[in-house]
Amino acid sequence: MSFTLAIVGRPNVGKSTLFNRLVGKRLALVDDQPGVTRDLREGAARLGDLRFTVIDTAGLEEATDESLQGRMRKLTERAVDMADICLFMIDARTGVTPTDEIFAEILRKRAKHVILAANKGEGRAADAGVIEAYGLGLGEPIRLSAEHGEGLNDLYAQLQPLADAF
Ligand code: GDP
Ligand code: MG
Repeated sequence: MSFTLAIVGRPNVGKSTLFNRLVGKRLALVDDQPGVTRDLREGAARLGDLRFTVIDTAGLEEATDESLQGRMRKLTERAVDMADICLFMIDARTGVTPTDEIFAEILRKRAKHVILAANKGEGRAADAGVIEAYGLGLGEPIRLSAEHGEGLNDLYAQLQPLADAF
C-alpha cells in the first residue's frame, strides 16, 4: 500500500525544497550554498490522497575532494536501493549538465522506477531546459517548481499509477 520515493540529483537543483513541501515540515536543510544537505533524511509525505515515505539525498558533490565525491555517490546509490521510485531532479534553468548525465546513468542501471523532474520550471527561462530533459531518455519530464508549488498535479499523475503497484 505504501512506497518509498527518493529524491536524487546534483546539489542545488531543489531536492530539499520539494522534500519540505511533501513533508510539510522543515526537516531537511535548505540553503543557497550547493551541497549543504549531506545526508539522507526521511519524512512522511502526502500528495493528494497518496501517503508515502520520502528520502532527501545529498547529490554527487562537484568538489575536487574525490573522497567526498565518492561518499556522495555512495549515499545516492544507498537511497536508490532503499527506494521503490526515484525522482530524478534537474534544474530546468541550467539545463542538463555532465553531472546530471552521471546521475542518469546510475539511475538507468540501478533504479526500479524513475520519474524525471525539471525543477525551477516557473517562467520562460526554464523552457529550453525542459526540452533538453527529454534527451536523458528517462521519459517525459515533469515541469516542476518546488518553490512555487507548481507541477505537483503532474507529479501526482505519474506517481499514482505506480503507487497502485505497492
Ligand atoms: P538541493 O541542494 O537540491 O536540496 O536544493 P535546495 O532545495 O536546497 O534548493 C537550492 C536553491 O534553489 C535554493 O535557493 C532554493 O530556494 C532554490 N529553489 C528550489 N526550488 C526552486 C524552484 O522551483 N524555483 C526556483 N527559482 N528556485 C528554487
Ligand atoms: Mg538539499
